[in-house]
Amino acid sequence: MDNKEIFNRIFPTACRYMRVNPLKVDTEFNEKAFAVFGELCENVRFKGLHEFISVSDFLNIDVKLTSVSEDLKFYLEGCTDMVIFATTLGVDVDAHSKKIQSKDMGTAVIYDALASALLEYYTDEYEDGLNLGEHTFRFAPGYGDIPIRLNYIIIDALSISKKIGIFKSSNNMMLPQKSMITMCGLGKKSVPTCTHCVRLNSCSLRKENLRCYNS
Ligand code: SF4
Repeated sequence: MDNKEIFNRIFPTACRYMRVNPLKVDTEFNEKAFAVFGELCENVRFKGLHEFISVSDFLNIDVKLTSVSEDLKFYLEGCTDMVIFATTLGVDVDAHSKKIQSKDMGTAVIYDALASALLEYYTDEYEDGLNLGEHTFRFAPGYGDIPIRLNYIIIDALSISKKIGIFKSSNNMMLPQKSMITMCGLGKKSVPTCTHCVRLNSCSLRKENLRCYNS
């Protein structure tokens, strides 16, 4: 798939991050975003890893954290095993982002949204390559009531810093910034919905008829 095809795939997601309706953007904005995407692609060094783990081992990774989440129980209910993914676009994406920010914040916002969407796209591709069979949708610490601090526990437990260079930063963030820890349960099919989300009644995205996931 060439850059234009990938751009066309991820552009609606990037628009969602920018809170822009992709059906309402004009040609000028689309062309500008594609030019920014070209800069992004020059800086991407995607890396990913995955680990198969039993759900019980995962829930015991830090019982204090995992036991507070109703969403974790709900999403993993009926699954014996699961997969954890760690993926990143690499440090050069952050460095170029800083460069753009110092010149033009508008372009930096587009770059950031495209980078997030591209990381999701590459993670989807990585996941597809594993042929997991029936599995739940991929979710992450920070999604619903799943404690975001689990990111740090997982980074240490799976030696992710040593293996692919994702490090703990401040405020539960990661470095490189465009990095994700995600997971899915195996043996059961499920898709993301708002029904079980703790933010259901206060979600600002829903008020704008948007969603935090691809539907
Ligand atoms: S769109 Fe809002 S309510 Fe729905 S899952 Fe995302 S955060 Fe929750």
